[in-house]
Amino acid sequence: MIIAGLQKTTLIDYPGKISCIVFLAGCNFRCPWCYSSELVLPLKIVKQPRITEKELFDFLRERQKMLEGVVICGGEPTVNKDLPQLIEKIKKIGYSVKLDTNGSNPGMLKELVKANLIDYVAMDIKASADNKAYENLLGEGVKLDDIKESVSFLKNSGIDFEFRTTVVDSVHKKEEFLEIAKWIGGPNIKYYLQNFRAEKTIDPEFEKIKPFKREFLDGIVKDISPYFKDCRLRS
Ligand code: SF4
Repeated sequence: MIIAGLQKTTLIDYPGKISCIVFLAGCNFRCPWCYSSELVLPLKIVKQPRITEKELFDFLRERQKMLEGVVICGGEPTVNKDLPQLIEKIKKIGYSVKLDTNGSNPGMLKELVKANLIDYVAMDIKASADNKAYENLLGEGVKLDDIKESVSFLKNSGIDFEFRTTVVDSVHKKEEFLEIAKWIGGPNIKYYLQNFRAEKTIDPEFEKIKPFKREFLDGIVKDISPYFKDCRLRS
């Protein structure tokens, strides 16, 4: 496991908790609009500064009185087979843990939830299950059925979680969100959209893509809100 970064405080990434963010390198997707190529592309990962496990745990022990939660994100954290062991150690010193995932590893997701190792999950929904673009993002060995399995599992797991989508012009169409809502929606489900903002993307072509207008995204939220307990646009 490569711990490639640590954001020491966040008030917005873990709902209701003052947290830090641990960035793990490696991802089994290749979303062309991804902002985190240094955590995804092997040639960039090797050039990243790293944090040792000791440094991470020294920090977590030192901040125990100030922080309540640890957000584990990537890349895709579940590509690391030893993720459960890392989280177990974090839980042992008293932190709540939020996992950010693309949903590609339903087996590990189930293991983490059943062992009470995670308290909150944010799962990315990249597109509707019928969008061919979804298949193209998946790395070797990942199937769309894995994503569907993670969606079904979370919906019935009892854990606190949210689904979320970065909305990207050229990838998503308005009508698609009705399909997504029918797939992932439910009376207890939280679903958040965020507008794509071109920065340094994996595919440089995506740096030319403009964000959607606010009114366009508000229209989507209005249309699909009846399918969810909470559906909003996040800035
Ligand atoms: S799943 Fe996340 S980290 Fe991986 S390529 Fe897509 S946006 Fe980037």
